[in-house]
Amino acid sequence: MLRLAIQKSGRLSEDSLTLIRECGISFQSSTYKLKTEATNFPLEILFLRDDDIPGYVRDGVADLGIVGQNVLEEAGCTGLQVEALGFSKCRLALAVPRGEAYESVQDLRGRSIATSYPQLLGRYLAGHGVQAELHVISGSVEIAPSIGLADAVCDIVSSGSTLLGNGLREVETVFRSEAVLIAYAALPPEKQVLLEQLRFRMQAVRRARRHKYIVLNAPAASLDAVRALLPGIKAPTVTPLADAGWVSVQSVVQEDAFWHITDQLRAVGAEGILVLPIEKMIE
Ligand code: ATP
Ligand code: ZN
Repeated sequence: MLRLAIQKSGRLSEDSLTLIRECGISFQSSTYKLKTEATNFPLEILFLRDDDIPGYVRDGVADLGIVGQNVLEEAGCTGLQVEALGFSKCRLALAVPRGEAYESVQDLRGRSIATSYPQLLGRYLAGHGVQAELHVISGSVEIAPSIGLADAVCDIVSSGSTLLGNGLREVETVFRSEAVLIAYAALPPEKQVLLEQLRFRMQAVRRARRHKYIVLNAPAASLDAVRALLPGIKAPTVTPLADAGWVSVQSVVQEDAFWHITDQLRAVGAEGILVLPIEKMIE
């Protein structure tokens, strides 16, 4: 039985649960339970504070964990990462009061900075040869300048709206983060096998999220041009339509290239373009 630690309640929780469910693993969860067991995979899920997850996995109390890279790095446990998961993308950023002049990180020399990430920030500042005074606080970092606690802040940002709402301006990116799967370094062989099964499923789910299934009609004369635009996993499926001179083409496209490719497909005569989500994708 594998033991997986995920965040109990916070920004990682919902996406972690969704990923496990999309891997075809069923379990019951409720807000007050601290652990649950899957019904169709040898997996026990522990619900913890995210800051505790790297230590639990480092010590083997949990076999696996899902946590932000920012928390993993701050805890000095980077070596545990086995898979990037593509969600909870955010950055650790330095911000200063909006009205204040700022040209470079050198301007922070000798200033005070509030943060919950003294390790990551300390390393960044040292890398730029800047000495500053760090105030370590565990939450609501953004209000520190307005209450006179610090001159600047270093905090997690995704859209930047919280900074703006607190009269701050983002000036430097200290670290980029996303959610990752981590594993105990000395898993016994039987657990290693289960981990590989889980990773295989997670990769299939992620790949599917990044792709769309596309079906379209095209003049047979345009087939070479269409094929060049839609290489597919191996090659597209091409079937003749009842109308002579037309074919139906089925393939897979990357989500982020989709609109660009669609414009080009239309330009070579494709029409009746259907796009469908893919649930799992195994190469
Ligand atoms: P806990 O109570 O478990 O200690 P927390 O308050 O420390 O929770 P959250 O705010 O829920 O943590 O954030 C958890 C993780 O989600 C962060 O460490 C970061 O990796 C990621 N994260 C934080 N803010 C954002 C955001 N705005 N957008 C996307 N991901 C974020
Ligand atoms: Zn936390």
